[in-house]
Amino acid sequence: MTRSDPPEDADARRAVAPVICYPVDALPPPDMDFYERARADMELQQTQIVPPREAAAIRVPAGHVLRLKSVDGPQVGDLNLFADDDLSERFYSGKTRALHGTHLSTGDRMWSSFPHLRPMATVIHDTLDWYGIDTFGGSVHDVIGTRCDPYTGNLLSGTQYHHCCHSNLTRALAAETGLSLKDAEAHVHDVLNVFMCTGFTRDTGQYFMKASPVRPGDYLDLFAEIDLLAVLSACPGGDCSAEHSSDAAACYPLLMEVFRPASLAGWEPPAKNGYDGSHGVHVPSGEGGL
Ligand SMILES: [Zn+2]
Repeated sequence: MTRSDPPEDADARRAVAPVICYPVDALPPPDMDFYERARADMELQQTQIVPPREAAAIRVPAGHVLRLKSVDGPQVGDLNLFADDDLSERFYSGKTRALHGTHLSTGDRMWSSFPHLRPMATVIHDTLDWYGIDTFGGSVHDVIGTRCDPYTGNLLSGTQYHHCCHSNLTRALAAETGLSLKDAEAHVHDVLNVFMCTGFTRDTGQYFMKASPVRPGDYLDLFAEIDLLAVLSACPGGDCSAEHSSDAAACYPLLMEVFRPASLAGWEPPAKNGYDGSHGVHVPSGEGGL
């Protein structure tokens, strides 16, 4: 492959300073005082174990807290979120990344797909927020990976592996909703990689993973801004220190817990997105919606 000759002003072009694509200053800031109060007094309602190399679903009413917890050993999880009454409103990893950056932590929100684009959940506590960004550029809880899946495995290594997160999420969603596997698969989407430590290599820009710093007892608390159906896969990569998409790594369960805060005073569910939905096409009144 031959590379094009750089122009005379190549260095000057590279030296142009970047600007943030989506400054989030315009977003209403999350009321962290409210979330801290909610966390301080809440009662456990439900628990759900996610077995290793499997996924499980749990419903989280709006105003409740979903805790995703490491138990037994270091393990990463792949999380899908849906509006409980409408599977077409689902977590939008790409837009969440554009708004909050490559990795989520306390105060960041998980946004839903178009035409909704509203906060589904807010990260209100993260016992790994001390990690920051390491010298490799790695950090925890990414929204850059997609989910391990059997199609990419087949493309790269010719395998037929059935316990990738994509398949685990598909089976768990089908079991929870009664949809066929084929119909459920169409709803599975790019995930929040809970506890996974990832980044991009500086020299080639490739997606990398490294052993997760998570230890039993660590957890991530998500406040449900709307009624949610959460599906979590305990990734076959275990702590993702070496490989995924196989049975080689040591894997551990994950725990999902749902808590009900004693008081929601001061909290309001998110408003519908204000875009008019016309895409510039005028519909005369009386002819129905779009
Ligand atoms: Zn996975």
